[in-house]
Amino acid sequence: MPDKSEGEGEQMDGRPVMLIADDVEVNRTILRQIFQDQYEVCEAANGQDVLTALAQREVNILLLDLVMPVMDGYEVLAYLKSHDAYAELPVLAMTARGDSDGQARAIEMGAADFLTKPFHPRVARLRARNVLANVENEWRKAMQSAKDHQISEMHRTIEEDSLTGLDNRESFYRKTAAMLQKNETLPYDIVYFDIDHFKVINALFHIETGSLILKTAAFYLQAAASTIGTCARLEADHFALCIPRGSIDANLLIQGLDNTVQSLGLSHNVLFYAGIYPIENIYLPVDQMVERARFAEKRVRGSHVERVYTYDASMREKMLKEQMIMRDMEFALQERQFQVYYQPIYRASTGAPVQAEALVRWQHPSEGLISPGLFVPLFEHNGFIVRLDRYVWEEVAKFLAAEKEQYGKATPVSVNVSRLNFYNHGLLDFLLELLRHYHLASDLIRLEVTEQAYTENPLQIAKAIEEFRAQGFRVLMDNFGSGASSLKMLKNLPVDVLKVDMRFLHGGDEHRARAILAAIVQTAKAIDTGIIMEGVETEEEVSFLKSIGCDAMQGYYYARPMPVEELRKKLHEGK
Ligand code: C2E
Ligand code: MG
Repeated sequence: MPDKSEGEGEQMDGRPVMLIADDVEVNRTILRQIFQDQYEVCEAANGQDVLTALAQREVNILLLDLVMPVMDGYEVLAYLKSHDAYAELPVLAMTARGDSDGQARAIEMGAADFLTKPFHPRVARLRARNVLANVENEWRKAMQSAKDHQISEMHRTIEEDSLTGLDNRESFYRKTAAMLQKNETLPYDIVYFDIDHFKVINALFHIETGSLILKTAAFYLQAAASTIGTCARLEADHFALCIPRGSIDANLLIQGLDNTVQSLGLSHNVLFYAGIYPIENIYLPVDQMVERARFAEKRVRGSHVERVYTYDASMREKMLKEQMIMRDMEFALQERQFQVYYQPIYRASTGAPVQAEALVRWQHPSEGLISPGLFVPLFEHNGFIVRLDRYVWEEVAKFLAAEKEQYGKATPVSVNVSRLNFYNHGLLDFLLELLRHYHLASDLIRLEVTEQAYTENPLQIAKAIEEFRAQGFRVLMDNFGSGASSLKMLKNLPVDVLKVDMRFLHGGDEHRARAILAAIVQTAKAIDTGIIMEGVETEEEVSFLKSIGCDAMQGYYYARPMPVEELRKKLHEGK
């Protein structure tokens, strides 16, 4: 398979390469017509030609007729399977309608799916797209698991099974299920524990310190729970107990854990968090019970106020919703259910829109319009955001190209660039290809990078930003001031515009907040950096912003995010 890190395995013109192998010329012609607008198509008339073509060029998907002279499709499948270089090449086998034996045999031999003759153009396109999307997903999963493996390897050095002497995950599942069934009438809880930022603790201190913390915690939990329930270290810094309801107060347990670990005299705060799942049905698999307790724990992790959270029915809804989002995302992208909304950014002095921000929404067939707040964090977790972002950017490019065509010029649009894109080398190439393809100048698509992404990995992101700027892109720092920005960061920040959220004013001492905003506006001017205030909701906020010299504003006061047709009207109304 090609190296996916560069251009995602597609060829220079951005289209995947499809090899069509069929001995009947008219079939090849039909398929070429179906696919040539989305794929770079090449052809082979028998199995031998397929192997020659594969040796000569990179191919992303193979459409393979099973019955061919010289070397048939089954022989080709056997060859691909036995050669590592081709083992992952996705193959769509082509059979006569009703040839279910042939289809089954092809799938057994490694074909990803099949097409039946005569070809149905829409089905053929969808199947090819699905097969390619699966390869992409597999690749991302492999990347993720390589990353996870690296992390777990790091942990393994400090967590041999013998480290804590507690049960491991498997024996916890087994023993807990047995205990619950034996005491069928007694109510039990699963309590899940996690340490905040354990990886950081490991990196800050020696690995032996990490081990010591784990052993100490294990000792404490074992002492608290082992005579009345089950207790395990599931992996890394994740522990679980199953104890009779009401037998131990989880908050007291957390306090006890804190004290025990503090007695080690570390200079860094080690914070434990817990999630509780009150078991209702003892026949639910224990891994699902643990998953629910973990879901509850995620609610409070990082909080300074609460350290324990109990799973309830409303969380179940949320969990199901998350599962639905993950299940439907691929299909939604294929079916173009994601829609790009635009929120105009205004110049207050003239009252005219001068830019817009692209914000994605999901028009789900049964759930209605889903807000990005719900799915973007999940897609950042599973990697799908990289593909969704590219989809959004391409929609934006199409919109800009249409504007240019109709009006001779277009209003710049900024797009959100998830931090995950920076771990994917094809980012700049993709954007440049987009500009080339739609004949756009680089200053029309502006890039919003969140402050959080920047502070997470300042060196790498700063380097990437410099490269974008060298190509003429403007870079905006999104949510500036919301996280860990510092004076030092501001000094070295290579961005063109700061986006500051008006909600900074709310809560706390508003007088001070206003003074700080005024100072930020002045500072931005002094260092020749633009500033956009977002979240502007009231007239009073507009006059305050004007009074401190801020001119670019985005917010409900002016306009909410809107579909593209409405934006078009807004941009050209009165002209
Ligand atoms: P963001 O980039 O900070 O976008 C601004 C958010 O503030 C948007 O929420 C917008 O609708 C909302 N907003 C605008 N004006 C006001 C106002 O006056 N008051 C209030 N209360 N809110 C206002 P939205 O559209 O729900 O997007 C949420 C976040 O999701 C975005 O925050 C961005 O981080 C992310 N997001 C949206 N679209 C994309 C995308 O295509 N790719 C990526 N990676 N992230 C996206
Ligand atoms: Mg933004």
